[in-house]
Amino acid sequence: PQLANQIAAGEVVERPASVVKELVENSLDAGATRIELDIEKGGHKRIRLRDNGNGIIKDELALALSRHATSKIATLDDLESILSLGFRGEALASISSVSRLILTSKPEMQEQAWQAHCEGRDMAVSLNPVAHPPGTTIDVADLFYNTPARRKFLRTEKTEYQHIEDVIRRIALSHPAVSFILKHNGKVTKRYQASASDHLTQRIAAVMGQKFLTNAIHVKTDYHGMQLEAWLGNEAMLRSSTDGQFSFVNGRGMRDKLILHAIRQAYESVWGVLEQPSFVVYLTVDPRDVDVNVHPAKHEVRFQQSRLVHDFICKTVADALCDGDD
Ligand code: ADP
Ligand code: MG
Repeated sequence: PQLANQIAAGEVVERPASVVKELVENSLDAGATRIELDIEKGGHKRIRLRDNGNGIIKDELALALSRHATSKIATLDDLESILSLGFRGEALASISSVSRLILTSKPEMQEQAWQAHCEGRDMAVSLNPVAHPPGTTIDVADLFYNTPARRKFLRTEKTEYQHIEDVIRRIALSHPAVSFILKHNGKVTKRYQASASDHLTQRIAAVMGQKFLTNAIHVKTDYHGMQLEAWLGNEAMLRSSTDGQFSFVNGRGMRDKLILHAIRQAYESVWGVLEQPSFVVYLTVDPRDVDVNVHPAKHEVRFQQSRLVHDFICKTVADALCDGDD
């Protein structure tokens, strides 16, 4: 199975940041409220995640490391309205096939924590009892050590780490009630603490900066069962890159063309052609009206009524920008 897993890894695991994304999404699925990441050398040397989620029982550790062993799709009906983030059941197996992965977990009700890793050509899973608080730790060392072609595509430590920070920013903005601690080479670089109240505003300030929050135009509108909530950066917050642009559909980070086009068009209609505006936009639609499974890696979605969604976003943003200008 190792070769099949490595081929699958080609699709899921492009770089350290993609490992981080898969691991963090698993923690969120497991109900974690605190996620800590220890990165060494841009993630190339080590990515270690600890969470306080539900954990994995001893009997399921080996299964978690095998391909297509997802615990997340029970019936076809679930597919229609996927709410849990991961559902392909191959991330851990893929990552494990291109790194030295150690999985340690303790569900609250299980007395002992257990640690699992794969060994040998047939990737047999070995299990050992260890000490560990409730939750899960996943240690991914020496990423791509056995796939030199992929290793060659890794950029500098700094660039890979920036990609990781970008992934965490995106996830942090969509999970304001979860605390994130991010360390690089032993030093804390980002700390997004969950606040007691008003999670979202606090989180936006933490990720985008207090200046953004203070100056951004806030809007929240419903239309035909859809909801758009957005913080729209003004002309003083333009950038040369799209780094400050975040959009979410039903809590998932997206870089969807239709959404970005609608926002862009709104900005242009109000302020003319511009450099890149900064914004944080949350769109909520009925899960049955959107297919999030089109491009799991490319962050694109397909809407049943794409025209309606596009025009709703465009009009809401344009109106808000006009009002905010007064
Ligand atoms: P998927 O998320 O698509 O189900 P993965 O390969 O990412 O597949 O994970 C396999 C399984 O391992 C998950 O279905 C889940 O049961 C378990 N798992 C992985 N990470 C965690 C975690 N941090 N906490 C609890 N369970 C986890
Ligand atoms: Mg997963």
